[in-house]
Amino acid sequence: MAAMAAALRGPAGCFRWQTRALAGGVRGAAGQRDYDLLVIGGGSGGLACAKEAAQLGSKVAVVDYVDPSPRGTRWGLGGTCVNVGCIPKKLMHQAALLGGLIRDARHYGWEVAQPVPHDWRKMAEAVQNHVKSLNWGHRVQLQDRKVKYFNIKASFVNEHTVCGIAKGGKETLLSADHIVIATGGRPRYPTHIEGALEYGITSDDIFWLKESPGKTLVVGASYVALECAGFLTGIGLDTTVLMRSIPLRGFDQQMSSLVTEHMESHGTRFLRGCILSRVRRLSDGQLQVTWEDQASGKEDTGAFDTVLWAIGRVPQTRSLNLEKAGVDTNPDSQKILVDAREATSVPHIYAIGDVAEGRPELTPTAIMAGKLLAQRLFGGSSDLMDYDNVPTTVFTPLEYGCVGLSEEEAVARHGQEHVEMVCLREPPQLVLGLHFLGPNAGEVTQGFALGIKCRASYAQVMRTVGIHPTCSEEVVKVRISKRSGLDPTVTGC
Ligand code: FAD
Ligand code: NDP
Repeated sequence: MAAMAAALRGPAGCFRWQTRALAGGVRGAAGQRDYDLLVIGGGSGGLACAKEAAQLGSKVAVVDYVDPSPRGTRWGLGGTCVNVGCIPKKLMHQAALLGGLIRDARHYGWEVAQPVPHDWRKMAEAVQNHVKSLNWGHRVQLQDRKVKYFNIKASFVNEHTVCGIAKGGKETLLSADHIVIATGGRPRYPTHIEGALEYGITSDDIFWLKESPGKTLVVGASYVALECAGFLTGIGLDTTVLMRSIPLRGFDQQMSSLVTEHMESHGTRFLRGCILSRVRRLSDGQLQVTWEDQASGKEDTGAFDTVLWAIGRVPQTRSLNLEKAGVDTNPDSQKILVDAREATSVPHIYAIGDVAEGRPELTPTAIMAGKLLAQRLFGGSSDLMDYDNVPTTVFTPLEYGCVGLSEEEAVARHGQEHVEMVCLREPPQLVLGLHFLGPNAGEVTQGFALGIKCRASYAQVMRTVGIHPTCSEEVVKVRISKRSGLDPTVTGC
């Protein structure tokens, strides 16, 4: 009896439910489970899956709960993208781009008094209000589609039953035939570094700050770090990026260098090959940061108002009590192991989005995976999510959009001799990857992604008529390869 009780107990309670939570899950009087589908996590993937399943006529519940950040930041329904990711990030990126346009405007005859100060409070308030309207929109959509929403933190009791705990401690036990885990991730803190947790913030906080972060040190060199550093610089803040190795690991490195060179030329400072060792509070309130230059071994210090950790994300699996359901994770990444059908080691439990092993951490992939999964479960479909050739854009001041392989990956897979301009050299010269650096790279790349998905060849791209004058037309005009040694600089219009 004691062993059974222990096996059924959730991590933070649910003990009182143990006698009801039998191995097959909690069933009602008619032997039915509460729901056809229970989705854990109301972010991009979870909401898409739940809404699609409900549209297909199934009985669906979503549970979503946000633990406040260590700094105490909280937000509503919609997950990372809506609250602390894509949406507030893109709006702040837009704010920074507008600043550049205002400065340029005088060259086009606009008489704008210079300098034009930026008001963080106003921007943040507008961004936060927009996010709150999206939170509300998600609530309404769930209601309209008759998806039951619970604001509770879920953990498994057994393979068909989940226990949820609300803010006030109230427990709810829910059972379902199918369970989808879409709990996403949260920013990583280097807890071994003195002062990191105490004084640092992350992307979970930056968009919700009421006051300007001031002079900021951004630690990390990938999407989050460079995007945040880009918009902070763009709105006029003194911004430094501290990176330990290369920028944008996994991306085409020639393009990545162009991204950081452009940022540097527009005022972002870079400390390369450096490792941060401690953060201390100075008597004037600023943060004294100490780092070591790996090449020289020398220590250096600087004073900042804000230290922003952007060193990757941790999947939210720890508190799910996955072992109670028998769901396997990768012990290194802590992500949930899934197959091509998004199924975990337990056939009726699925994982989608950032929490699933080997998936791109992007909103559109989580959404599409969630929809397709619901269609397979309740719509008689057998369509699988195709994770190849997923387009993406890094929203740095000069945006970088790409789809397919980087030049490095293309060469590694096909050999240097067989690759020219990230296309196969042999006819039909299949395009392997497309990389675009310039304004509106997201818009440009989205269109070309369709061509790549349809296995476009280099010849077909060259036969595509450009739209003049645009930046995208440069893609259909690319005729000079690196191998030719010719200068690709465009001199005419
Ligand atoms: P999430 O959206 O993270 O949702 C998971 C939800 O589950 C959260 O609400 C969480 O609180 C909840 N939850 C967790 N555990 C439990 C539990 N035990 N019980 C109940 N609820 C739980 N992607 C793009 O495509 N484009 C971008 O421009 C972009 N920008 C980004 C910028 C930043 C700063 C960040 C951090 C990410 C960005 N991303 C972007 C990535 C994108 O936000 C994620 O890939 C996407 O949100 C993942 O969706 P998801 O459904 O897997 O999880
Ligand atoms: P990533 O995991 O992509 O990158 C982590 C970065 O932090 C790397 O530069 C890494 O350096 C560095 N790093 C890791 N540990 C340390 C450490 N201890 N000290 C110093 N630096 C460290 O994380 P992100 O948070 O940037 O992004 C997470 C995901 O979110 C992305 O993969 C992306 O899919 C998604 N996202 C998408 C966006 C978009 O679509 N525009 C925007 C933002 C996020 P190293 O290379 O040396 O390991």
